[in-house]
Amino acid sequence: MPSIFTHIINKEIPCYKIVENDLFIAFLDINPNAKGHTLCVPKQEINKIFDMPEKRYLDLMKFSREVAVALEKTVPCKRIGMSVIGLEVPHVHVHLIPLNDMKQMTFQHKVSQSDTEFKALAKKIANNLI
Ligand code: AMP
Repeated sequence: MPSIFTHIINKEIPCYKIVENDLFIAFLDINPNAKGHTLCVPKQEINKIFDMPEKRYLDLMKFSREVAVALEKTVPCKRIGMSVIGLEVPHVHVHLIPLNDMKQMTFQHKVSQSDTEFKALAKKIANNLI
């Protein structure tokens, strides 16, 4: 079923894109737990991650790892946390969150960023991709 992420993938609505290929897209979460909070999304419309075909699931993990490595180079943090939820947007996505504190994984504490900051950060992360 089409979700807001389908509209992003189809370029019908904008996003702070980091990178995309034929199968996946990574962009900044619009309501981030921490600066650099990124979503890695398969272009195929699948609701639940463990319903993905195994190969596509493993490809998503590889893509997410590449983005996480670039994210860790860009945003000062202790480590990159990873989470899969999908209760708000029923289209598979991997949350990558630069962590300094456990509360940043709770989705209860949010940070605000300006449009300019989002754009600059997406560009910096993209520049650190291998
Ligand atoms: P969940 O489905 O619970 O894993 O959460 C969905 C995530 O998508 C939330 O962290 C939202 O802030 C994020 N989100 C929703 N709409 C957008 C959007 N248009 N651009 C970027 N992130 C979004």
